[in-house]
Amino acid sequence: MSAALTHPSPHHSARRGPVEAVCVHWTGGTYASAVDWVCRPESVVSYHAIIGPTGDVAYCVPWDRAAWAVGASRQPDDSRFTFGARGNGATDNIALAGGPMTPPTAQQITMLLRQIRARFVARGWAMTDTWRILGHVDVAVYPAGHPKAGQRGRKPDPTGQGWLNLDTIRQEIAA
Ligand SMILES: [Zn+2]
Repeated sequence: MSAALTHPSPHHSARRGPVEAVCVHWTGGTYASAVDWVCRPESVVSYHAIIGPTGDVAYCVPWDRAAWAVGASRQPDDSRFTFGARGNGATDNIALAGGPMTPPTAQQITMLLRQIRARFVARGWAMTDTWRILGHVDVAVYPAGHPKAGQRGRKPDPTGQGWLNLDTIRQEIAA
């Protein structure tokens, strides 16, 4: 069913309801540093899968558990679903690893598409439900207690400054 973990992260918890979407991230560091970081006890962050520039994939958290990747979040269209108390549990999380301002490689895009398709199949979602492909930038909001609580802008990944166009990814999935 799910791929065996290649780099198990200690940072995950029980899902608290159905998984609704795939959230795509960009680690902002190298593949090696990203994989190392999610495995460290002090990081308190994880992704289900991290894709390196050569298309290598590190599987860090079981898909049936919640990875600690999203934080305070709100779906762009609340009529689809709301994160609510599920928080991290509502998404499957896939990260691209690369340095700041580094566009993903062709191999990374190919593997990202393969991973997203696999999640859609595993979750039983129609490939045309492309609203289920979210970028962290689209959902991350400032947490309660912050002066900008509830507002977006907390995270720039994975699109950066034109680094990745998720609409292109959505079109490829739906094609
Ligand atoms: Zn992120």
